[in-house]
Amino acid sequence: MPDTKHDLTTVTRKDLFHLPAGVVYLDGNSLGPLPKSVVARTQAMMSEEWGDLLVRGWNQAEWFTQPGRVGDRIGTLIGAPKGSVVMGDTLSIKVYQALAAALALRPDRKVVLSDSGNFPTDLYMARGLLEMLGQGYELRVVAPEGVESAIGDDVAAVMLTEVDYRTGRKHDMAAITRTAQGAGAIMIWDLAHSAGALPVDLAASGCEFAVGCTYKYLNGGPGAPAFIFVRPDLANVAHPALQGWMGHDAPFSFDLGYSPARGIERMRVGTPPVIQMTGLEEALKVWDGVSMADIRAAAIALMEQFINEVEARCPSLELASPRDPELRGSQVSFRFPHGYAAMQAVIDRGVIGDFRAPDIMRFGFTPLYLDEADVTAAVDVIEDVLSRDLWQDQKYQAKGRVT
Ligand SMILES: *Cc1c(COP(=O)(O)O)cnc(C)c1O
Repeated sequence: MPDTKHDLTTVTRKDLFHLPAGVVYLDGNSLGPLPKSVVARTQAMMSEEWGDLLVRGWNQAEWFTQPGRVGDRIGTLIGAPKGSVVMGDTLSIKVYQALAAALALRPDRKVVLSDSGNFPTDLYMARGLLEMLGQGYELRVVAPEGVESAIGDDVAAVMLTEVDYRTGRKHDMAAITRTAQGAGAIMIWDLAHSAGALPVDLAASGCEFAVGCTYKYLNGGPGAPAFIFVRPDLANVAHPALQGWMGHDAPFSFDLGYSPARGIERMRVGTPPVIQMTGLEEALKVWDGVSMADIRAAAIALMEQFINEVEARCPSLELASPRDPELRGSQVSFRFPHGYAAMQAVIDRGVIGDFRAPDIMRFGFTPLYLDEADVTAAVDVIEDVLSRDLWQDQKYQAKGRVT
């Protein structure tokens, strides 16, 4: 077990975040909290750049090159070389682009393989693309444990999310990538619950494509742009399915015909969300001087503490996450038949986690702003809600639009 105290002191930087008084935030895996400096930075961007520079901001404030610049910063957190990551759009769109480019690399194969632990939008986007392509394309969805054995020589692309959003189960990225490529398939990894949560080494994995969002562990705020990685040797080959002008080789020559930009820039589509991306660029500064290995060690220590305390004090909760921390991302989930109401009651008492249907109470651990005292305080509340059946109150039964 890692030395908790040592690890935490090297990575905790609570003072950089706006954390409401009385709240223990265990939902940074859904929406990361606000890094304080983002407020002043986005305000300055709006008044000094948008306000004063107006359209000159594209050059003078370097808005145009921001998607690549921010992509490079994120690349350092996921083991991607410079020039292999670009920002834009939402993760759903980036999944579509990566999959379309993968299929174009394997025109003689028709099967896309994914698993039932994937986040639904990834599967929806894949199905939409395959329906559009017609021609016998097929999405094959197997159980997470069955992925490797389902990779046959008819599979064009294997498309997986490394960490399961519900249970936190973590795939072996290097091993699955090897198996996929050994069978001649293209590998696409979704890093939504990995980027900023645990060490990722895209270069070492050798995967062709990766995608992810930035409003979870990367604290970019609601609506922050997504990222896409293309392995450098494919950057000038990858087929852009969404041929927007910002991914054109010369957007300002306004050619009537599309000609893809050289390199990763071809994965840009339209005008980037500059205000939001400026907030993200500022938010990424919280990672300066932090090692992802230290973050991971500290997160594991917090999760072990949480599991031990919950299992000792809340016997009605059943662990839904892998017990071995090496097989888990940076979240811990418990099953409880009345999980929705129980989570509402817990949130009402200042401990914010979330609920995932049908019965999962999910808690994210991000040592940048959480420590052992927070974990104990959170378990105090969970124990109180469960041991006194506080979740039975009528007000905790009605579901909101977003759960
Ligand atoms: C959070 C998440 C998404 C969300 O996609 P958006 O387009 O950003 O809404 C997609 N895929 C996975 C695996 C996720 O965890």
